[in-house]
Amino acid sequence: MLTRSALIYLSRQEGLKEFAAKFSLFKKLTTRFIAGETTDEAVAAIREINARGCSASFDHLNESVSSVEATKDEVREYLHLLDLIDQTGINSNVSIKLTQFGLEIAPDLAYQNARSIVEDAVRRRNFVRIDMEGSSVTQATIDVFKRLRSEFGLNDVGIVLQSYLRRTMDDARELLKIPARIRLCKGAYDEPASVAYPDKKDVDDNYVSVMQLLLASGTYHGIATHDPKMIDATIEFAQREGIGKDAFEFQMLYGIRRDLQEQLARDGYGMRVYVPYGKHWYPYFMRRLAERPANIWFVLKNFLKG
Ligand SMILES: Cc1cc2nc3c(=O)[nH]c(=O)nc-3n(C[C@H](O)[C@H](O)[C@H](O)COP(=O)(O)OP(=O)(O)OC[C@H]3O[C@@H](n4cnc5c(N)ncnc54)[C@H](O)[C@@H]3O)c2cc1C
Repeated sequence: MLTRSALIYLSRQEGLKEFAAKFSLFKKLTTRFIAGETTDEAVAAIREINARGCSASFDHLNESVSSVEATKDEVREYLHLLDLIDQTGINSNVSIKLTQFGLEIAPDLAYQNARSIVEDAVRRRNFVRIDMEGSSVTQATIDVFKRLRSEFGLNDVGIVLQSYLRRTMDDARELLKIPARIRLCKGAYDEPASVAYPDKKDVDDNYVSVMQLLLASGTYHGIATHDPKMIDATIEFAQREGIGKDAFEFQMLYGIRRDLQEQLARDGYGMRVYVPYGKHWYPYFMRRLAERPANIWFVLKNFLKG
């Protein structure tokens, strides 16, 4: 059986990334988690998500971009997306990764690139979420976010924190002082025990503690998880503290627990679905497989069915 670490290791192999993108049979396996390779396919997916009572967040798949020119392509793609959201009237914001905008080339490049997206989103009254990546860029991501947040409003740009990181409670307290809109997730990268809790129970306990801190802060946050235990803890805490259903939103990934997405939307909770699309799907796809070994059998079963 492939372990989580092995799958995450494979997700970082450049050679396999190229191979997988060209191998059309492999591409077919991805349809459960990825909305397609084109913006048209992603817009169609979001229309369908909106029709089920959920909002969305576009993610143009790409990360660890290593040329300045390629980061500019990413900026153009996101400006196009923001325009497309306005033109089509779909209910969606956008999620970006700073390594997609050049964080590993130079933090200032990522800042300038992200700044052009946030500036355009503000003009259009939309919102930009900065995803959180591996721990080697956590601080740099927070630093760029803080720079942007000092120039733009609370409802213009937000960030993500991961409950598996030991530092996250401190980060949450600091960011809430600004204040900042935070998406809380468990974390999807392979991290050493020195920076991340190795035991799932500790990750979950920290998730609940940080969730409570966020909800009690009075700022609108995103509770991103498919875990019924985390969802129940959130609902229970909100009810106990008299926090309204409209004071936060749940978030889930495209293709995962669609039943629960619809149920929560029907129950009157905000539900945002993260919709990844594009040609660079390989690392994202492998992280989804790493999260849950059952996903490997699920995609293979669907593939064999035809
Ligand atoms: C909207 C959104 C945005 C995210 N953004 C980031 C980010 O910026 N950075 C980052 O590192 N990570 C991000 N993630 C990924 C996240 O960190 C986790 O890796 C991922 O959500 C899996 O964790 P979980 O909370 O669903 O619970 P897990 O602990 O993985 O699973 C707990 C339970 O949830 C249910 N479940 C989980 N997955 C499935 C599935 N595929 N099918 C059916 N049931 C399932 C099962 O009941 C399972 O036992 C994001 C996740 C979401 C939902």
